Amino acid sequence: MNRSPLFETFARAPLAFERGEGVWAITTDGRRMLDFSGGVAVNALGHAHPQLVEALKAQAEKLWHVSNLFQIPEQEALAAKLVGATFADKVFFCNSGAEAVECAIKTARRYQFVSGHPERVRIITFSGAFHGRTLATLAATGNPKYLEGFGPAAGGFDQVPLGDKKALEAAIGPETAAIMVEPIQGEGGVRLVEGQFLRDVRALCDEHGLLLIFDEVQTGIGRTGRLFGYQWSGVAPDIMSSAKGIGGGFPFGACLATDEAAKGMTPGTHGSTFGGNPLAMAVGNTVFDIIMADGFLEEVQRKSLYLKQRLASVVDSHPDSVGEIRGEGMLIGVRCIVPAGDVIAATRDQDLMCVAAGENVVRLLPPLNVTEAEIDEGVKRFDAALTAIEAAKAAGS
Ligand code: PMP
Repeated sequence: MNRSPLFETFARAPLAFERGEGVWAITTDGRRMLDFSGGVAVNALGHAHPQLVEALKAQAEKLWHVSNLFQIPEQEALAAKLVGATFADKVFFCNSGAEAVECAIKTARRYQFVSGHPERVRIITFSGAFHGRTLATLAATGNPKYLEGFGPAAGGFDQVPLGDKKALEAAIGPETAAIMVEPIQGEGGVRLVEGQFLRDVRALCDEHGLLLIFDEVQTGIGRTGRLFGYQWSGVAPDIMSSAKGIGGGFPFGACLATDEAAKGMTPGTHGSTFGGNPLAMAVGNTVFDIIMADGFLEEVQRKSLYLKQRLASVVDSHPDSVGEIRGEGMLIGVRCIVPAGDVIAATRDQDLMCVAAGENVVRLLPPLNVTEAEIDEGVKRFDAALTAIEAAKAAGS
């Protein structure tokens, strides 16, 4: 049998990394790659940020793990910070985005259950959504591509076209518990959701006694230039999932909720062995403090404009290869005319890492603390990748 060198794991690209420094990821054979993939929106502060390294080391010398049966002061500290900066009153810590979404779904169902509506169990989600790969979050995602061969899909989910208020109203029934939406669809192709639509969703939830869940696994923790993406719209959810950037690379998830929405969740109704352990919390608290320091998010917004402007001139000079640029903060999508996979491959040849998203989009997810010089370098490499694709096309290969 012809065994692939990647056989033992499920890696998809033959690149192995051993170290990182800020925006640079260095392969085992010494290749320095400019990392504009950010571990898919995880490395909020780049690789091996000295303060995160320090926080993790200091915690590792004190305490790694105790059970969530007990109070964990680092959890309480971060929960207080998250509550102080958002709509939420309560935080449940877990280890990943999918777990945070699962917790959000459970919180919504449980709210309806203790409110005298045990029949209200269904969750409405939107076309193009991505909520994770566990069985429930796959059903919430609703994309047959991810479900193939894994059926039957977990029940209790209804999907409507994103942005279609009429279809949404029609989908709300006596069994509906909640509506779940990403303020910007990341995996779906960096699709922005209109503020008006979010306001409509909020109004429908209030009118029908439903809870509003925002999945901010990808858009949270400064990624869009605000602490959470919903803060651009002025529409607050009842429940929100967070993960990725909050751990800066440490496995991390959190589900935030108002006291009212979380009223069915009492100690013991839900649980996680590892969620919010002291090591994760040491990193999470430090990431939060850095991102919320004076002026940090304003800088993300300023550099986002800079990145978009620089990209716009590249797009203008390659009109047959790429089109629209969209996104907020350091969550930027470039719609491709040539296959996005070809663009990803060509950027890798230029030692630039970026990732694909739905609808033939390439996503750029640099760390939030990327510098203008690093943006210049990334855009230059992106430009060179498109030039190489066009040259290969012209040569007929
Ligand atoms: N929700 C959203 C919006 C996501 O973007 C992702 C991951 N891309 C998830 C949930 C799932 O997160 P995880 O892979 O950590 O389970």
